[in-house]
Amino acid sequence: MELHEIRKSYGNVTVLDGVSLTMEAREFIAFLGPSGSGKSTLLRIIAGLETPDSGEVVLDGRRIDTLPPGQRDVAMVFQHYALYPHMSVRENMAFGLRNTGVSETEISARIDQAATALEIGDQLDKKPGQMSGGQRQRVAIGRAIVKNPALFLLDEPLSNLDAALRTRTRVELAQLRKRVDAAVIMVTHDQAEAMTLADKIVVMNDRRIQQSGSPMEVYGRPANAFVARFVGSPP
Ligand code: ADP
Ligand code: MG
Repeated sequence: MELHEIRKSYGNVTVLDGVSLTMEAREFIAFLGPSGSGKSTLLRIIAGLETPDSGEVVLDGRRIDTLPPGQRDVAMVFQHYALYPHMSVRENMAFGLRNTGVSETEISARIDQAATALEIGDQLDKKPGQMSGGQRQRVAIGRAIVKNPALFLLDEPLSNLDAALRTRTRVELAQLRKRVDAAVIMVTHDQAEAMTLADKIVVMNDRRIQQSGSPMEVYGRPANAFVARFVGSPP
């Protein structure tokens, strides 16, 4: 995936001011940055839920920023899950696959496989409101997995979980990552999470990428004082 000079303003407030990034297939990138630094906006632009003022998004050699969200080969997991409360778990997971040419048999098979892997196989007939926060988060992750996307976008997927569940889900994300043949961008507030899961860390602040590199590089050779402070590098 490539981002070329993405710019986005809301009214006269510039949120992204020329963001460029190159990502390898199957790479796991963690986005770090303070609240309001444009991380979620950037994910929404990649997913097609928001239009950039200028710039390009390229996936597998194809420009996708002009395509509708459903044709982008990208799946997003939102911080607040964004499940449909009136639908069962199974329906929530099937929803994004309807009318995409995938057969009902194949949809069912994918849901059963993902739900079993995420240990919610016995919850498929429940409504999201009948589940715990951790289970709902698994449904949201499962809903992304069944799409078989080339790129997963995870917006602070663990931030609503308590400490124990967070640690466990972090391990599961690492396992998931080995199983799926896809690239992952995960926004997180948690430096430790970024350092342990990611191949590459991207630090955002002040409308731009401040630094991108391996966890070792960013931690050991921070590009500026902001990055050093933010990732807690030794002085
Ligand atoms: P982050 O995810 O890094 O916390 P966001 O991308 O959510 O940052 O927001 C970046 C900035 O853009 C914030 O100042 C936010 O208030 C603003 N913003 C985001 N979405 C909108 C919107 N739909 N309308 C107006 N301003 C927005
Ligand atoms: Mg955000």
